[in-house]
Amino acid sequence: MISSIRVLLAIALGAGLSCALAADDFASERNALLQEIAALARETARDTGRGTFDPRVMSVLATVPRHRFVPASELRAAYRNRPLPIGYGQTISQPYIVALMTDLMRLKPNDVVLEIGTGSGYQAAVLSPLCRRVYTIERHRPLVDQARERFAALKLENVVTKHGDGFAGWPEQAPFDRILLACAVQQVPQALVDQLKLGGILIAPVGTVPKSDGFGILESISQRLTKMIRNETGVTEEVLIPVVFVPMVSGLPGGGA
Ligand code: SAH
Repeated sequence: MISSIRVLLAIALGAGLSCALAADDFASERNALLQEIAALARETARDTGRGTFDPRVMSVLATVPRHRFVPASELRAAYRNRPLPIGYGQTISQPYIVALMTDLMRLKPNDVVLEIGTGSGYQAAVLSPLCRRVYTIERHRPLVDQARERFAALKLENVVTKHGDGFAGWPEQAPFDRILLACAVQQVPQALVDQLKLGGILIAPVGTVPKSDGFGILESISQRLTKMIRNETGVTEEVLIPVVFVPMVSGLPGGGA
């Protein structure tokens, strides 16, 4: 009896230790990534208007485990400062771009945010501790399901997901303090502008988008990160750095899958 308790204890301690190690395994990579993001923020200050990012944004990036948002095949690249494939022709965004977009939103603790393009869920996980609630829409059902599991595992209870077409926004939850498009549009859909509060901020990659769902013709893409602020008559617009995002595609894959 005593020896079996000892064995169980040893197993439990072993499991605890390996969990702790697993968490630590990536800590130094995550720190190195943060340094890289800070350096890039300085280098791009002239085009972004932001030489340093809000310390709250940086501290969230220091804690969100990006390795939990990439497929197993990309684990070793999880803390590289680049987008990575997540299946279905989609990508998890480059960490520096996630930092910049989050910083540009100037989030306040009570803000309600709409994200179009949940993808892996990483961007929503970064927004989560910085605002009251994140509503996030994704058109690929398997990506929504995966992201939902990740949010639950990480206890990010203020992130609400929906499988649907982001072109319609989420009228039942509107208006939003902030809207973030994680996919590129030629023009921001009017429905989304309409769902933004007066004085609210919308961040989107705007420019040319390939017609197909995927990234076959990236060379010809010309998109700019754009920041809009809603006013009485429409929006004011600030055009920032060139970016490359997957396109915002209307309708659901396979007509509803
Ligand atoms: N925020 C994501 C990045 C995802 S890439 C992350 O952190 O991982 C952009 C995502 O937008 C893709 O998953 C794509 O399927 C989704 N998307 C494209 N068009 C859409 C639409 N009309 N409605 C909802 N999601 C869309």
